[in-house]
Amino acid sequence: MTSIAFIGLGHMGAPMAANLVKSGVMVKVFDLVPEAMKSLTDVGALAAKSACGAASGADVVITMLPAGKHVRALYLGEGSSDKGLLDVLAAGTLLIDCSTIDAQSAKHVAEVAASKGFEFVDAPVSGGTAGAAAGTLTFICGGSDSGFEQASKVLSHMGANILHAGGPGAGQVAKICNNMLLSVLMIATSESLQMGIDHGLDPKVLSEIMKVSSGGNWTLDKYNPCPDVMESVPSSNGYQGGFMVDLMVKDLGLSQEAALLTNSCTPMGALARSLYVNHARQGNGTRDFSSIFEQFSNIQ
Ligand code: NAD
Repeated sequence: MTSIAFIGLGHMGAPMAANLVKSGVMVKVFDLVPEAMKSLTDVGALAAKSACGAASGADVVITMLPAGKHVRALYLGEGSSDKGLLDVLAAGTLLIDCSTIDAQSAKHVAEVAASKGFEFVDAPVSGGTAGAAAGTLTFICGGSDSGFEQASKVLSHMGANILHAGGPGAGQVAKICNNMLLSVLMIATSESLQMGIDHGLDPKVLSEIMKVSSGGNWTLDKYNPCPDVMESVPSSNGYQGGFMVDLMVKDLGLSQEAALLTNSCTPMGALARSLYVNHARQGNGTRDFSSIFEQFSNIQ
């Protein structure tokens, strides 16, 4: 039986690891916050006392951590008093990082991993906490063909779409391109809806019109930012749950760093980052990213 170590059991990692347990593989978990492991041990996972303890002897290691510095610390030991996993694991262990991090860090870890005989696949996800719980995430992978092939088998227990963007780091680049586009669509949809409301239109009617017209997009179809237009979305629940503004700010920062590296022209992404930073600074950091709608609806 395949044994998997899952490290990082936050909003995303915990439901993802639970789906692996359900699929029948042996899962050993670790998180710096011990309480985070409880929901996993309740469904049959084993808890380890350290990341190394979880990963030792595993066939596959999966990580779901906040940012690049956490991933570099864990795999390389950078800035940490502990040795990196790459210094203690047996060569051949498949390493999959599902965190959203900068592509440079992902490439660097992949290079060091390859030099020590490991396949490292960056596999950031799209689909949010609901997709993580339902096992319907999209995994956007970067790595070698053989790494992708091996990773796909494991990731299929947690996702519906497993895509290969290219070599090491390509998954991260594709992920931040997607999130930059999503942020722009969310902002533009919000301002359009509010302008319609200001002119006396019903936002439900306007949404239906735009959905089947040339302005149709994912936010109108699945995630309307105007309260009470759609059921079961964060805007109809006080913007609770979903994808936090702080995480969107992080992803937009990554997209702007990436744009600088290649001198790419991303004016809409730059503006979207500024608007989301401003929104976070007004105390909205932990609310869902569709709450950007209030920047337009609350103007007096
Ligand atoms: P989170 O902050 O809820 O969880 C991160 C977990 O990692 C925490 O439980 C933390 O204790 C743990 N951790 C940090 N360093 C660790 C270490 N060295 N060893 C063990 N555990 C450690 O974050 P999240 O919402 O689960 O997001 C995780 C990643 O997924 C982020 O990169 C985020 O950008 C990305 N993401 C999140 C969403 C979302 O909707 N939340 C959607 C897509 C992608």
